[in-house]
Amino acid sequence: MKIIGLIGGMSWESSIEYYRIINQEVRAVLGGVHSAKSVMVSLDFGEIEELQMKGDWEEATRILIRSAREVESAGADFLLICTNTMHLMAEEVQEGIDIPLLHIADATARAVMAEGLKSVGLLGTRFTMEKDFYRGRLEKKHQLRVIVPDQAGRDLVHNVIYDELVQGLIKEPSRQGYLEVIQNLVNEGAEGIVLGCTEIGLLVKGEDVQVPVFDTMEIHARAAVDAALGRYELS
Ligand code: GLU
Repeated sequence: MKIIGLIGGMSWESSIEYYRIINQEVRAVLGGVHSAKSVMVSLDFGEIEELQMKGDWEEATRILIRSAREVESAGADFLLICTNTMHLMAEEVQEGIDIPLLHIADATARAVMAEGLKSVGLLGTRFTMEKDFYRGRLEKKHQLRVIVPDQAGRDLVHNVIYDELVQGLIKEPSRQGYLEVIQNLVNEGAEGIVLGCTEIGLLVKGEDVQVPVFDTMEIHARAAVDAALGRYELS
């Protein structure tokens, strides 16, 4: 079994879910008292969020590269960045280490295509919904059609992530707001919904939605186990 490397803490509300799913999945596959071999460097999201809001992506990139090297030196065979947003600097992180990065958008695209879908609605932080690093990867590398909410929808989704979900707050009015945004995406032709922020799955569940839902946190964590067991090819 390979050693899974994780950069977590962005936020720890989802990192704890990664840890749980990865270990549950290894036990489900190998049985008995087996558990995953892993190392995690967990960051202070307060520092990261401040850099995000200032738009200081250079310093954020330096922190992520340093953390990736720490994970590598601790013995990891491959790396997960446990947040969609911070894949903004995925290329620079990959260039800074010698172990492969398991990109969250690639794992997600694989899951979407396994369901035979071609168009998805994307929810996430403003950075994930509006910048090219994520939707562009889904569109250009994986030939998926990506639909994002309108400005009001994007504001709602983004604000709930930072004001509530990363602080461990799960509120019913926000869940209803998300379901309305999702319904609009479905009306615009989304065949599935990508929960492109690792905390959204804490608020919205698959059974709440009439089309397939792709929880990037869960997909990424399961892909890590597949990679650790040699069932997911890392490029
Ligand atoms: N965990 C979130 C994501 O998947 C948001 C927190 C962050 O900005 O890293 O994008």
